[in-house]
Amino acid sequence: MVDILKTAIEFLKGVGPIKADLLKKELNIFEYNDLLNYYPYRYIDKSKVNRVTEISEESGIVQLKGKILSLRIIGENRAKRLVAEFSDETGTIELVWFNSIKWIKEYIKANQTYLVFGKPTIFGRKYNITHPEIEEFNQNETVLSVPFQPLYNTSEKLKKKNIDSRAISRMIQTMLPQIEAFIPEIINANTLKECNLIRREDALFNIHFPKSKPLLSQSIYRLKFEELYFNQLKLLKTRQVRLQKNKGHCFGKIGNNFNDFFFHHLPFELTDAQKRVIKEIRFDMRGPSQMNRLLQGDVGSGKTVVALMAMLIALDNDTQSCIMTPTEVLSQQHYSTISKLLEGMNIRIELLTGSTKASAKRKILTDLATGEISIIIGTHALIEDDVCFKNLGLTIIDEQHRFGVAQRAKLWSKNIPSPHILVMTATPIPRTLAMTLFGDLSVSIIDELPKNRKPIDTLHFYDKSRLQIQGIMKKQIDKGRQVYVVFPLIEESVNLDLKHLQEGYESLSHDFPLPHYAISVVHGKMKPLEKQFEMERFKKGETNILISTTVIEVGVDVPNATVMVIEDAQRFGLLQLHQLRGRVGRGSDQSFCVLVTGYDLTQDGKDRIQAMLNTNDGFEIANLDLKIRGPGDIEGTRQSGLLDLKLADISKDEHILLLARSKAEELITKDPELSSVESIKEKGYLTELLKKSPSWAFVS
Ligand code: ADP
Ligand code: MG
Repeated sequence: MVDILKTAIEFLKGVGPIKADLLKKELNIFEYNDLLNYYPYRYIDKSKVNRVTEISEESGIVQLKGKILSLRIIGENRAKRLVAEFSDETGTIELVWFNSIKWIKEYIKANQTYLVFGKPTIFGRKYNITHPEIEEFNQNETVLSVPFQPLYNTSEKLKKKNIDSRAISRMIQTMLPQIEAFIPEIINANTLKECNLIRREDALFNIHFPKSKPLLSQSIYRLKFEELYFNQLKLLKTRQVRLQKNKGHCFGKIGNNFNDFFFHHLPFELTDAQKRVIKEIRFDMRGPSQMNRLLQGDVGSGKTVVALMAMLIALDNDTQSCIMTPTEVLSQQHYSTISKLLEGMNIRIELLTGSTKASAKRKILTDLATGEISIIIGTHALIEDDVCFKNLGLTIIDEQHRFGVAQRAKLWSKNIPSPHILVMTATPIPRTLAMTLFGDLSVSIIDELPKNRKPIDTLHFYDKSRLQIQGIMKKQIDKGRQVYVVFPLIEESVNLDLKHLQEGYESLSHDFPLPHYAISVVHGKMKPLEKQFEMERFKKGETNILISTTVIEVGVDVPNATVMVIEDAQRFGLLQLHQLRGRVGRGSDQSFCVLVTGYDLTQDGKDRIQAMLNTNDGFEIANLDLKIRGPGDIEGTRQSGLLDLKLADISKDEHILLLARSKAEELITKDPELSSVESIKEKGYLTELLKKSPSWAFVS
């Protein structure tokens, strides 16, 4: 049977090949189905327009209707902005844009009535709206005469070809009557009933053209559920297949290496959480199938030693292990930490990165293949084709987010049977995100810091308070402690970045009351070996201050460092700030994290600083970060295409996720092959989904 939903988009009346091309490129709309699933991001409730004079501190988001009186560009460089004076019958307010200035300026016409949507903030004595949504108001526009007008995202390119929100809405309006009868239900009748879900066809109709507010909410709910339900089914299904297919190594024993380390070399007592997690890992690796485990723990919770002990179990069972890290600095760091922990034990450990010399590399490759090397640590150099193991038993991936799916797949395939996999995350992942992203992994959590730690004292200073900041640094340095000063990486311009760092360096070395402190500088333009050299100097205590861009963000472990000064702190994400803070407080001394900002903080910036002042708990921070930034921005998820949710927002829809998860589990448990009449609906759609996205669940 021909599936009308798969009709190519150019065949829709009014589209044609040129527009179709743009729709494909800009919005990923290839066929009818894609258009059907291209949901509005918001609706204009035409019945509700606010007046300028009504705006107050408590207004929240408002919708205004009026005209633009004037437009002007003010400020320069980063402060450059477009300011529009907007007026309705009752008063005027300023609209402000920092981005897309040129485009907006061309877009806005005199004497045209606009609908403006956004959140007013008070600026001086006046209100303004920064980056409002702005839309031409058209009296005659009555899309199917529904009370809510859907708004669709488009792009500048599309708008230039007249494909704006309205045009998309019209396309959907043309398409719907043709396909309505062919929209399949994909959730079984029981679940629909138990979860009170409306029919799919109704949901899809009403999400585009809501007949009423309740119907709109029901549609959104139903489609969010559907999305999360299939996300979970997909994960559960892939886990099922993996467990069946991959028997994995069976690490039956704990032997000399593990015991010798535990009883004679471990320099501290493990925390209860570390012990528990090691047990979980051990249990997994004993079989009957391959381990696929995510290890979560706050910065400084001691994941490295857990990783090492897992590798010792692998070694006791005559297999090799590797740790793969996203940066050379981090590889180097792990290598030196682990070498030191293993001192006095006869275990061959090597480092392999992009800067390993050719001759050394050749030797390493030979010794890996013969099995003389037991543990290897490295960057993506480890996944090159010429790297062969004698028998790889365990692969540990540190800072997982930064690796692409394909890279992980390669590591996975380096051995038969596939090695056990332990993924360590740099920062805690909120529960909902972990469930949707890594729902097929088992999760271990280290929820306890080593006992000797004192909570880090976090302080906020405006950059005018240099003397105070320097005072804190000086006091600690005079006690023999060390200090980090971190500048944000200015991504748009490496030169600007360096200049920034340079200025920081100069101000520290010249203006500092005691200029004889030794300073290390590390930045992105340096070669890995130079970086390593400077980091080593700092680590050995030869320098008092380490100035750097975010390269020290992950992995650096210098227990003697007690002050982390973060310059322009508002330019860092919340998780990054927390990561950086985690670089101090690793010894038994009181440590400080100093956040330096200007006065001109955005609300967002203020929220982040406040969150840092309020809590030291990484899980709490991760949850807040998810709320502040929204899931679309969580580091790495977008590039890796892992979190592919259109509608559901896991920072807000946790209850739907939990329901969807439990329903998915119920179905798979009852009918593992989805072969019963009841599961037939799910099966068809799931098969399509799995066909579309290569089974990335096999790779981590
Ligand atoms: P992270 O989880 O951030 O990778 P690390 O493994 O780098 O943390 O450990 C942070 C610091 O804590 C290291 O200096 C490590 O030696 C130390 N450490 C780890 N476990 C313990 C423990 N149980 N008791 C005391 N110190 C510990
Ligand atoms: Mg670490």
